[in-house]
Amino acid sequence: MRLDDQPWEGKYHEAVERLSREEAQWRDAETLLRQLVGCLTRAMQGAHDQLDSHIERLNEALAGPLAAAELGGVVRSLSETIDNLGARPYTPDQRSIAITRPRTEHGSSVQSSLSRLVDRIIVLPKLADRANDLRHDVANAGDLVALAACGDRLADLINEQRMGLQREIDALQAVLRHVTGRLDEMTQYMARELTDQATGETNGQVLDASVAHEIRVLGEAALELDDVHELRERVNASLETITACFREFRDREGARLTAYRERAEAMRLRIEQLETERHTLQRSLEREHELSQTDTMIGMPNRLAYEKRVDLAYQSWLVSQRPLGIAAIDIDHFKSINDTYGHTAGDAVLRVIGQALLKHVRPVDFVARYGGEEFIVIFDGTEPAEALQVCERLRGKIQHLNFHAARQLLRVTASIGLAHFQPGDTPASVFERADLALYTAKNGGRNRCIMG
Ligand code: GH3
Ligand code: MG
Ligand code: MG
Repeated sequence: MRLDDQPWEGKYHEAVERLSREEAQWRDAETLLRQLVGCLTRAMQGAHDQLDSHIERLNEALAGPLAAAELGGVVRSLSETIDNLGARPYTPDQRSIAITRPRTEHGSSVQSSLSRLVDRIIVLPKLADRANDLRHDVANAGDLVALAACGDRLADLINEQRMGLQREIDALQAVLRHVTGRLDEMTQYMARELTDQATGETNGQVLDASVAHEIRVLGEAALELDDVHELRERVNASLETITACFREFRDREGARLTAYRERAEAMRLRIEQLETERHTLQRSLEREHELSQTDTMIGMPNRLAYEKRVDLAYQSWLVSQRPLGIAAIDIDHFKSINDTYGHTAGDAVLRVIGQALLKHVRPVDFVARYGGEEFIVIFDGTEPAEALQVCERLRGKIQHLNFHAARQLLRVTASIGLAHFQPGDTPASVFERADLALYTAKNGGRNRCIMG
């Protein structure tokens, strides 16, 4: 909505202009009146018949509509006549010279001039009493000195009238500035608020309607009312109402924003909480996943991990045909270890062998506990001969591990069966061949590696 270009605003400007014009007129009238008083004072010094015609013209000028220019012409010619008569130039002191016997006809003419002037110019009600007094004093003035004094008082009244007009102009301009400033402020505020409309649209519409209504009421009042004071009060009352509308709007919006912020904060906390939960859940899933593929007794990959890994390697092998082999490792006569030294000792042996395998396979190789006392190694990208060498090295490492059980040095060996992928193979078929090679190794006397 637009708050500018209101009809009442134009009316204010017109009023200011009209008052300014009137003020200028009164300023001229005051100047002329003071000149007139000067002329009369000088006339007092040597009243002359030639003055009669000027006084007459002055009366005529005052009888018509008050035109400062016309009056000015009369006063100027009166002044010139007095100068030509050889009267001394006007100075303020000379007005105090006592004239005891003014010429009656001049006195009465000046009297009537001043009376007419008083009748015509006093318009402000608060100056009416002083104007009446002045009218009375003019009527009863005994001489020109008294009349000149009345002229001075009249000039003062005109000045006050003028000052009154000026004050009215100032007041009007102040009201105008005030109204314009407040409306500008509100327009800006509203522009700011109304841009953030997403959910505050209803509030904005209520405000818009209220303010528009109030401005309309104000505009109508401004067009109806002529009294500036009443108008100013109406303007202030309307501004109060508009301010209240804005306050209400602000409160409503404030409440809305507070509720929104609370919701947003709750939402933020909720999101934060969900994020933590998600993170925790992810960590626990990762942990579970890791655990599901870990042999916890030894701390190494289990059979599930092996199956996943071998499947990946197999998929890759299908494409690349890079050498891919698996070795099945089985501890020799492990049952007798359990039987002789107990299950706990057997567990300890399994842990030591598992850690040794982890330690001694190459970083490119993968080792897992397949189950029981069996381990498995994947050789990805390793030729069979090289893989066999690694198997030999692992076998040797196991053989040279020192175990102490029941104060005895215990030697443990393992048999290894190795097989590489051939065209048409699957992880299961290769495992089968490796297991077969392992069986061969067992049958061959154990503690050896056989390539299948
Ligand atoms: P071979 O040389 O022919 O492999 O003889 P072996 O005794 O090692 O073979 P067998 O399969 O007969 O025995 C394997 C034993 O390993 C049987 C089982 O009780 C034991 N075993 C399997 N898992 C574990 C385990 O986690 N801890 C312990 N202590 N023993 C286990
Ligand atoms: Mg076995
Ligand atoms: Mg065994």
